Amino acid sequence: MDDVADGEMDGLCVTDCTRCPELVEGRSQIVNGAGPDDADLVFLGEAPGANEDEQGEPFVGRSGSVLDDALRDVGLARPDVRITNCVRCRPPENRDPKVGELENCAAWLERELELVDPELLVTLGKVPSEHVLDRDVAVTKEAGDVVDARIGGRAQRVLVCVHPAATLYDRSQEETFTDTIAKAADLADLTDGAGGQANLGDF
Ligand code: URA
Repeated sequence: MDDVADGEMDGLCVTDCTRCPELVEGRSQIVNGAGPDDADLVFLGEAPGANEDEQGEPFVGRSGSVLDDALRDVGLARPDVRITNCVRCRPPENRDPKVGELENCAAWLERELELVDPELLVTLGKVPSEHVLDRDVAVTKEAGDVVDARIGGRAQRVLVCVHPAATLYDRSQEETFTDTIAKAADLADLTDGAGGQANLGDF
């Protein structure tokens, strides 16, 4: 077990944390990352929404369906990848996480990434991209860019991506999103043998 002040982690899961009073007040539960503990590809969202807060798993609402569809189109399924968030507790009214909340949760994310040690981290949207790269990010313009970052002192290859929800508000983002997911599968070397086009000959 690892302890960070006001919290506790057991393996990849935060089992207790009281660092953000507003989030502790409103959450039903802590929403930890889901997926293989040795995933080559990790997706990083912003924070749980209502569905995630209820079900205890990241990206299980409409944004999750968009992500699942894009993964399926490149021959991947949810169990092939790991999905986590910058902040593990639902912000009230689905507001963006505050800087202090992102900072409070950073140690948990750093530990998760250190243990999983993925080939590639895909940042879904502006908040995770800016959090991880520690600079302003014009996500629509930079989507598809690969950046060598340092997260908690560890080297991490990062692929910037628009948030799946952006495709629901703006259809013109669909291609940007799906192209970036295809690039992610390719960079993490998950396209061969993972189904999809690569396995069409099997049928
Ligand atoms: N949006 C996010 O950024 N994370 C989730 O877990 C769900 C929706």
